[in-house]
Amino acid sequence: MITSPVGLKQINNSEDVAIIQKLLNFRKDLTKSLTDVKVDGVLGIKTLEHLRLVQKISQIKQDAIVSPFGVTLKVLWPLEFGKPTGYGIRGKDSYGEGHHGASRGSRVHDGADYVSVPGQKVKAPMSGVVTKISRPYRTGIDALILSGVEILASDGSKAWVWYIQPDPYVVGSVVKAGTSVLGIATTLTNRYKNGITDHVHLRIHDANGNKVNPATLIPS
Ligand SMILES: [Zn+2]
Repeated sequence: MITSPVGLKQINNSEDVAIIQKLLNFRKDLTKSLTDVKVDGVLGIKTLEHLRLVQKISQIKQDAIVSPFGVTLKVLWPLEFGKPTGYGIRGKDSYGEGHHGASRGSRVHDGADYVSVPGQKVKAPMSGVVTKISRPYRTGIDALILSGVEILASDGSKAWVWYIQPDPYVVGSVVKAGTSVLGIATTLTNRYKNGITDHVHLRIHDANGNKVNPATLIPS
């Protein structure tokens, strides 16, 4: 979620500091009576005060430093999962089944397909920060219409959510699983004309880069 350490005598890239400031303001349960920090990307006394309080309440080392994938970041924004569309996994249609590991001819399905209604809001399946736009197709009309996002979690897990029209300002935003809106579901019927069930394709890798079956993580 951050590229280098934030805190006293650390690198403090302004984008990283801003993400930590946003997280601190989201976690009123940890910052208690302290008023919001200004999200300006500048590490000041107030941000350090917030960090120390979060570390004290969480009973971890009070060094006011947040490292990428470190314990303070995991405390601030824990790895959590939520339903992206509110619907279940796509059953059998003329293009196959939507569960992880389903047959796709010579290969297997590397994600899980959650049924969607085109136009509906699609929510973050995993807590983290939206790092970039991720496109399922590189060329043609589908590359323009069918899009998605990549999310990085505090422990290094990654999720890709495809077949949505991402919100214009979603890249760089902090998202909470099952709550934060990533964008709007798009229809797949232009590419798959023979009767596909509209869905979002969700792929998840754990912190070590191993593929994980999303259905084992997403609450049903
Ligand atoms: Zn799929």
